[in-house]
Amino acid sequence: DRIAEVDGGERGIHAFLHVNAEEALAVAADVDARRAASEELHELAGVPIAIKDLIVTKGQPTTAASKILEGWMSPYDATVIKKIRAARMPMLGKTNLDEFAMGSSTEHSAYGITRNPWDLDRIPGGSGGGSAAAVAAFEAPLALGTDTGGSIRQPGAVTGTVGVKPTYGAVSRYGAIAMASSLDQIGPVSRTVLDAALLQEVIGGHDPLDSTSLTDPSTGLADAARLGNVAGMKIGVVKELHGEGFQAGVENRFNESLDLLREAGAEIVEVSCPNFKYALGAYYLIMPSEASSNLAKFDGVRFGNRTLPTDAPLTIERVMAATRAAGFGDEVKRRIILGTYALSAGYYDAYYGSAQRVRTLVQRDFEAAFAQVDVLISPTTPTTAFKLGEKIDDPLSMYLLDIATIPANLAGIPGLTLPGGLADEDGLPVGIQLLAPAREDARVYRVGAVLE
Ligand code: GLN
Repeated sequence: DRIAEVDGGERGIHAFLHVNAEEALAVAADVDARRAASEELHELAGVPIAIKDLIVTKGQPTTAASKILEGWMSPYDATVIKKIRAARMPMLGKTNLDEFAMGSSTEHSAYGITRNPWDLDRIPGGSGGGSAAAVAAFEAPLALGTDTGGSIRQPGAVTGTVGVKPTYGAVSRYGAIAMASSLDQIGPVSRTVLDAALLQEVIGGHDPLDSTSLTDPSTGLADAARLGNVAGMKIGVVKELHGEGFQAGVENRFNESLDLLREAGAEIVEVSCPNFKYALGAYYLIMPSEASSNLAKFDGVRFGNRTLPTDAPLTIERVMAATRAAGFGDEVKRRIILGTYALSAGYYDAYYGSAQRVRTLVQRDFEAAFAQVDVLISPTTPTTAFKLGEKIDDPLSMYLLDIATIPANLAGIPGLTLPGGLADEDGLPVGIQLLAPAREDARVYRVGAVLE
């Protein structure tokens, strides 16, 4: 009912691309019947969840917000979907995103924009704007997102919700349509830190179907969220991830969060990660390189809706070209071109090779920082939500929004965003980001619960 009330129409939120009402209601009714029969059920049984439309689901369409997959039905469930079904959580439907998760505003969806519930003329973040908006607008208490460079955390920040990118390998990527495989990670979107922890416990764990899946992912996440204690902990403020270029209202809320942590018994110290200034540049070479390879399969032969050229001859190259010209949007094409260029003979070492070396330096910065502190903290984004359309013709300024989220993906470490209050200038939500070493996901939940 809530989805019907707020999601549709000219000025609707449009968080959902597909609503799975019948199945969701059937699962809910089944849970009620089992509860009435005193069956022991999972803690989250009956709690509805929305799914980012980059994650494949049997019986519901999966589009990646692209025309090239319009009408496609996956013959199998992603591992996370199997786990959600096993916990008996009703799936409300599939949420909007930037096409193939490329973007920071959900304006690059082939199926229309999503609006920020806090201000309908502003972006809900991206790429997972649909999942964040659904939770912020009370359409769903929980959602799944994917985070390659910030697509769970940045939408979380600008919609006042909680979002977590788990340690790389903590949650199976099997059935998440790949954007940049070495960076992608599925994670929870929620209203509270404890809810996110409970959801990560449902979806996490080793999966033989994902070769990068950890055999020993961190446990005790919900316990850590319930504990919520920072007494005696050392928390590092990353010098490079706040200050210049960050909105004053964002800085103010960030400083308040530091005060709260101090009051709760944490020691706040400043740390420097000097190579972070190259992280954005490295990401925007590595990510398009991997995406150009991952998206090669959408050629109208192996995957994707086939478009025939309007004139002869119908060679396979011309069919593939017509398919990709018609099926992909501008941002996806931009990144494929960037990626194939960066990987081409003669340029490979100058671009891709350098980017990989920067990636190692970013990882070393984190190692040095975590040798001094338990957790790192920063604002999640430099600004609050901007106006729809404001940056659509300026990809570079859009990419700059990822400055604080990208280092975690390059290093594979866990990151959590939670609401830090509203900015003085515009009354819009500000996100606070917590980062911990790989496999120490419990730490971001433990500290996050104190700031809530
Ligand atoms: N905004 C980033 C990008 O456009 C993040 C994308 C993501 O995490 N999927 O690449």
